Amino acid sequence: MRILDPHIHCYSRVTDDYEAMFLAGIRAVVEPSFWLGQPRTTVGTFRDYFSSILEFERSRAADFGITHRCTIGLNPKEANDERLADEVLEMLPEFASRHGVVAIGELGYDSITPAEERAYVRQIELAMKLQLPIMVHTPHRDKHRGTIRSMDVLRELGVPPTQVVIDHSTEETTAEVLERGYWAGHTVYPQTKLTAERFVNLWLDHGVERMLINSSADWGKADPLSVPKTTALLERRGAHPDEIQRLVWDNPVAFFGAARLYLPAAGETPDPTPASVTHSRIRDEHRADSPRL
Ligand SMILES: [Zn+2]
Repeated sequence: MRILDPHIHCYSRVTDDYEAMFLAGIRAVVEPSFWLGQPRTTVGTFRDYFSSILEFERSRAADFGITHRCTIGLNPKEANDERLADEVLEMLPEFASRHGVVAIGELGYDSITPAEERAYVRQIELAMKLQLPIMVHTPHRDKHRGTIRSMDVLRELGVPPTQVVIDHSTEETTAEVLERGYWAGHTVYPQTKLTAERFVNLWLDHGVERMLINSSADWGKADPLSVPKTTALLERRGAHPDEIQRLVWDNPVAFFGAARLYLPAAGETPDPTPASVTHSRIRDEHRADSPRL
């Protein structure tokens, strides 16, 4: 079983986690840029953070046999500091076009404020311009209202639903997210969000079509092995191994796009591309005859 965890904040995890993840079958991860707990006060700290998840974290993961990619965005919580948000939004295109960026995110709503909506719309427009998928964070409080509003704004802006994952979906939202044609991301967490048992029930209702699962492990009490633990439970509950493989590998690869992920072939090192190269250089040097990224 090969696993791609499509949402994990490795920045806040220790190297022992990488070792355990590799042993549990995780061969690739996507690290979305997010809120760091402590509110940032200057744009320079965003610059260093984006560089960190694009470069240092990528080589740290590769040392443990894991291919690391990331998403770039201004998180909803910090969108509310409007002066700082403007400076970050100005800076985003520079980072969003780097090699290793597989989506714009996490975007969306936290407290559902006008400032959050402004940053959300601007970043959706950036994603469309750069032809990148979008990762939408849904609020913990008022989840249903926030989810519906996130999808309504995307529709108004003409974003194809298959280019978007609506993340942290639960029983409250999954059916509607799938009906509207989006990918439904599910966070399996030890305490809040979904448990593995609750995800099994969602799988019984919805199968694996456009379904994703992730750990969203961060600085809090989270489990970087929650994806492999959920696959184990699915198998014990009768899911076919091919179906599980689709859920935890084929689906995230289809969503982010194989060309963007640029995963190593069997026998290659976890990260054959130097982290400093850009999308355009990668296209020229390695992927001259593949479709536009
Ligand atoms: Zn997150």
